[in-house]
Amino acid sequence: MEAELLNECMVCGKLVDQAQGIHLLQHFICNECEQEIITTDTGDEHYHFFVERMQLLWQDLHLERVTP
Ligand SMILES: [Zn+2]
Repeated sequence: MEAELLNECMVCGKLVDQAQGIHLLQHFICNECEQEIITTDTGDEHYHFFVERMQLLWQDLHLERVTP
């Protein structure tokens, strides 16, 4: 019996198989959200939702750069 490795998507909060998404640092984004982020127009109000959710990630990326 194989244990499935589930990850919580940082955008939608769903638990998905790790093969169904991408890891960015210690965060995880499911394929669905990744596609939505890519295809959502910056003028779309949905885009602001993504930006808010992704702010944690940007913060971490920034921290990675200043503290090696
Ligand atoms: Zn998601």
